[in-house]
Amino acid sequence: MSEIIGESVEHRGGAIRNAGYVISRYARILTSDIVRFVYSPECIVCEERLEQDKVYFCQRCRDNAQDISFPLCIRCRNQITVPRMGCACNDGAAVSVLWTCGMFDGFYRAVIHAIKYHGLLPLSKTAAEILASRIRETQRLPAVDLLVPIPLHWSRHLQRGFNQSELIAEHLGALLDTEVSNKVLRRVKRTKDQTRLSAKEREANMRGAFAPTGRRELADRRILLVDDVTTTGSTLNEAAAALRQAGCRNVFAAVVAVASIN
Ligand SMILES: [Zn+2]
Ligand SMILES: [Zn+2]
Repeated sequence: MSEIIGESVEHRGGAIRNAGYVISRYARILTSDIVRFVYSPECIVCEERLEQDKVYFCQRCRDNAQDISFPLCIRCRNQITVPRMGCACNDGAAVSVLWTCGMFDGFYRAVIHAIKYHGLLPLSKTAAEILASRIRETQRLPAVDLLVPIPLHWSRHLQRGFNQSELIAEHLGALLDTEVSNKVLRRVKRTKDQTRLSAKEREANMRGAFAPTGRRELADRRILLVDDVTTTGSTLNEAAAALRQAGCRNVFAAVVAVASIN
């Protein structure tokens, strides 16, 4: 049902979404900075007072982050040594290799929550910088020619005012000198919040959530999907399947953090 409603008002939603996006994006940047100016800034992780403005976390919390310095399999989470080959556990999957900053805990959870729920948008650049250095350190990302952020459904985009994955992808694209497009993939289904869903339920929830929009632009492309966090990989898989249907040659993924699968 929500899928049908989402489709039918997609066009009208576009204009409202763009206007809402611009206004609330800048309103959020402004308010978050005003709040930080009036109240002295605190570390987003330990809440200790920070000496400098424009700094969002303390060095101790940054040093305690649970970093992951190698590409890993989306499904079994084992280290991948030859990304082009994928992982044997996930043979034939639409996407199987993932680059990430670290575990969705402590530092990286605080960074993602600060962007998503508190509008501290400059942190999307910090996240992209760490992700870019992680990709460069491992030197094992096969050639990609397009970065695609995981899109939000237009109604959720309107509600939040921005898409954090899009912001991260924009910065990452600049750092890796690679084209970014938020036009080739569309979220056509307003999916349920996945927090309390099992792996099977997440898979069903995401089924049919994405549709490719630029078949000509996607043919034979090598894509790096970008998202803030992944748990079971169901969102990345579904998005990658839609891109592959449109003729993409390879799909890899990069996320700021991976959450443990319970
Ligand atoms: Zn701290
Ligand atoms: Zn695996």
